[in-house]
Amino acid sequence: MNEFDIDTLAVRAGYQQTAEQENSEAIFPTSSFRYKSAAQAAARFSGEEKGNVYSRFTNPTVRAFENRLALMEGGESCVATASGMSAILSTFMGLCQAGDHVVSSQSIFGTTKVLFTKYLAKFGVEVTFVSQTDIREWQSAIQQNTKAFFLETPSNPLTEVADLSALSSLAKANDCLLIVDNCFCTPILQRPLEQGADIVIHSATKFIDGQGRGIGGAVVGSEALIEEPVRGFMRTAGPTMSAFNAWIFLKGLETLPVRMRAHCENAEALAVWLTDHPAVETVFYPGLESHPQFELASKQQSAGGGLVSFKVKGTREQAWSVIDATQMLSITANLGDVKTSITHPATTTHSRVDPEARIQAGITDNLIRVSVGLESIEDIKQDLKRGLDKLV
Ligand SMILES: *Cc1c(COP(=O)(O)O)cnc(C)c1O
Repeated sequence: MNEFDIDTLAVRAGYQQTAEQENSEAIFPTSSFRYKSAAQAAARFSGEEKGNVYSRFTNPTVRAFENRLALMEGGESCVATASGMSAILSTFMGLCQAGDHVVSSQSIFGTTKVLFTKYLAKFGVEVTFVSQTDIREWQSAIQQNTKAFFLETPSNPLTEVADLSALSSLAKANDCLLIVDNCFCTPILQRPLEQGADIVIHSATKFIDGQGRGIGGAVVGSEALIEEPVRGFMRTAGPTMSAFNAWIFLKGLETLPVRMRAHCENAEALAVWLTDHPAVETVFYPGLESHPQFELASKQQSAGGGLVSFKVKGTREQAWSVIDATQMLSITANLGDVKTSITHPATTTHSRVDPEARIQAGITDNLIRVSVGLESIEDIKQDLKRGLDKLV
């Protein structure tokens, strides 16, 4: 199916119809599979014959999701996992060993940071954090034993954009892997493998599901990087995606192209509107010309994405009052949903970060993050206007 456009891949790729000739993909909620004979069982177990064995590592619904996402990202192989976090864990457990070093952007998902500093460190993998946007910091952090670069772009919540092609050149020149968490853009807006990344990671929980129903993740890349190292770890350690969740994400992929375009359209309109509101100090959105990396973002992403952050004039009290004045938006830290969500990063997603470091990173008390959903943009604006108008 390689020759098809991504919109077609999203709807049709990766699934093999069964003898029932169903049009919608079937779910296979079975833990194990039966063999025609003892000899076939032996052949499947030895790997001599390809086929299903046990759903910790072979399930037709999960495989359909993996195949479809691999084609959409332009990767040879994909392994699905129980969550975005277990996708990240499986990648590092599969590809790194004690004594290895990783350079990571400091602007990454908070739990990923905890995974690196608290858990990978226990097993002798050391991580150095650097600026998302200053390539010189990446360069000077490289050591003899540096194995990988890790980042997500645009970052959450400040939408800083990392230069994928520059970082990929630097990684290659130093014999490192470039690992990109592509959760915010999805392959609809950005395909990191085409821009030189070696591995793409997803939290399928976010835009891929798109309707806030399930937790899941995936790792995509070349066969050599994914199959033996990452799938091997996943198969042995067992952070497996369930067949039911794989079905949800498979169906999520079908509408991902139209949803992403609609998220971006609403987000851009909201960002423009917020820029003009007198109670707003700054708006962070890569699709705005005022964004410090607007040109880079336009080059590597096809649109600005679904997340908009902004600082109100004032402090925590003013930010909370805007959040509390909403009547329709969901006050929740989840993102990528058709339902617009609003959150106060300093006291939720980033509350575990040391206050001084948090302010240093620009996550101040007057910052609000909105994951723009698919309700009418006029209703979304109206819901925010209520609180914002009170501040002026
Ligand atoms: C949510 C998220 C994760 C973790 O995914 P889970 O599915 O919640 O485990 C990782 N990276 C990013 C960028 C995320 O937003």
